[in-house]
Amino acid sequence: MIPMVDLKTQYHQLKGEIDKAVLDALESTQFILGPNVTNLEKELAEYLGSPFAISCASGTDALYLAVLAAGVKPGDEVITTPFTFIATAEAICYAGATPIFVDVDPRTFNIVPELIEKAITPLTKAVIPVHLFGQPSDMTAIREICDRHKLMLIEDCAQSFGSGLGKDKTGSIGDFGCFSFFPSKNLGGYGDGGLVSCKTADNADIVKMLRNHGSKVRYHHDVIGLNSRLDDLQAAILRVKLRYIDRFNQERRRVAHRYSEGMKDLVTVPFEDQKGNHIYHQYTVLTNRRDEIMAKLSEKQIACAIYYPIPLHRQNVFAKQCSNVSLPVAEMIAETCLSLPIYPEMSNDQVDQVIDTVREALAG
Ligand SMILES: *Cc1c(COP(=O)(O)O)cnc(C)c1O
Repeated sequence: MIPMVDLKTQYHQLKGEIDKAVLDALESTQFILGPNVTNLEKELAEYLGSPFAISCASGTDALYLAVLAAGVKPGDEVITTPFTFIATAEAICYAGATPIFVDVDPRTFNIVPELIEKAITPLTKAVIPVHLFGQPSDMTAIREICDRHKLMLIEDCAQSFGSGLGKDKTGSIGDFGCFSFFPSKNLGGYGDGGLVSCKTADNADIVKMLRNHGSKVRYHHDVIGLNSRLDDLQAAILRVKLRYIDRFNQERRRVAHRYSEGMKDLVTVPFEDQKGNHIYHQYTVLTNRRDEIMAKLSEKQIACAIYYPIPLHRQNVFAKQCSNVSLPVAEMIAETCLSLPIYPEMSNDQVDQVIDTVREALAG
């Protein structure tokens, strides 16, 4: 049996350190915005090379907080990718703005900079690229377009913790970076959690205020905010895991490269854009024979998943608004993509079992 992710093996490897961190946090009884949160934020700002890092309750909230802090207002438009998890677009809608979907690159599955530029209107306020599956979007081109048109740039880094372009980590390039600590993400807690990174003290102050009921001084409320804080317990766990994240990401790359070597004659294996550093949150191939492969994997008790089966412009919730929108690349990928098990603890033998099963499925 091979699962999509194996959180248990990882917990057992780190059990001594994690249990101690949790017990210490329990003893401290500083459960809300306690010392682990403060320290984690410092450590994350340093790791990301970003001046400010503010934790919050989830990746979805991180996006929402960034959208609000970017000044997105009802009636504004925000350009983003249709090939992502719904949360990217939800955050735009929570602010009363409209997501404008533009198509993605068939090799990286990431948003195409030239198409962003074509979609800009006087209502456009911000752009949200997603570093999908852990591969950075073309941030040099996107940053240049946003600067030229005076648009806010918000990176959805939920799947890209630790990846970067040269020395620049994702989340340190745009005005805001939004991360998720959902358990299965590359840096995952044992519950929900998220983070906003940003460049200016002004933006950091706004995010901090918004995540805590619009308050800078207790019981003094300047704006309507949220209750969106990271638990000190989660911060304690994440501080332990942060020490291992580069190793975890390297192990994911080992698994991915072994897959690609073994399957390049069978399916379209992931394309690694040399500009970036793909950290393989997912290992996703394209194939016209997806059903046959899925059936064979299931027979051998090997997990797999379709990320994502329906692009956002084809979701019921956006169907009306997007009835005239055609995004053929995103639609093609949704019809042919298949994600295979990947996690740092996956052995070479397990990888080979998956490869052999895919080969067997296609031989039949
Ligand atoms: C997981 C994810 C989110 C949302 O994060 P949560 O912590 O689950 O709220 C947002 N965007 C993308 C691309 C994601 O993969």
